[in-house]
Amino acid sequence: MAINYRICPYCNSKDVAKILYGYTSGDMIMSEATGKIKLGGCLICLDYSPEYYCNSCQKEWTKEDAIYLAYEKIKEIKISIGGYHQGFQEFHINLKDGRVCHKPSLYEDDSLLITLSTKLLEKFKNDLIGTSILNWRRRYANNDILDGTQWEIVLVRDGRNIIRSGSNDYPKEWENFCKIISEISGRDFS
Ligand SMILES: [Zn+2]
Repeated sequence: MAINYRICPYCNSKDVAKILYGYTSGDMIMSEATGKIKLGGCLICLDYSPEYYCNSCQKEWTKEDAIYLAYEKIKEIKISIGGYHQGFQEFHINLKDGRVCHKPSLYEDDSLLITLSTKLLEKFKNDLIGTSILNWRRRYANNDILDGTQWEIVLVRDGRNIIRSGSNDYPKEWENFCKIISEISGRDFS
């Protein structure tokens, strides 16, 4: 599920207009009346020029805002990785309070619990946006390999959770993702 900029990140309304800047024609004024576009005027503010406008809640946003807000909705990340022979290990990362839990295997109780500082948590959230995990496919699978490594990532949100999973196949950002998980947990994750 890629991020849809035309859904309001504040109220989820689909009644969203594209904001147009610059010279205004008569046609554009007609279009604005239908709510399809919104006229932003001739002056583009160099620091912040929102691209979308919600006809329901009157809020405005840029693509960057929409991406940031989509990631802010993730409350927790639950990762499970392993295989039939080596067992599965789990990582749970709470993005609201910074708690990180690592369980080496389903059968062991030796779970590591650390709490990230606010600074580290913010860095991790930024790094997570860098992995584009919300734009990954639902599933990656290489059917030529039996057993091997299976992985599943659950992005916990209010409402519907988002799931990414794979079997011996990975998105191109996988290495980067492993790196940031290893960094915050201090455990080798690959
Ligand atoms: Zn809205």
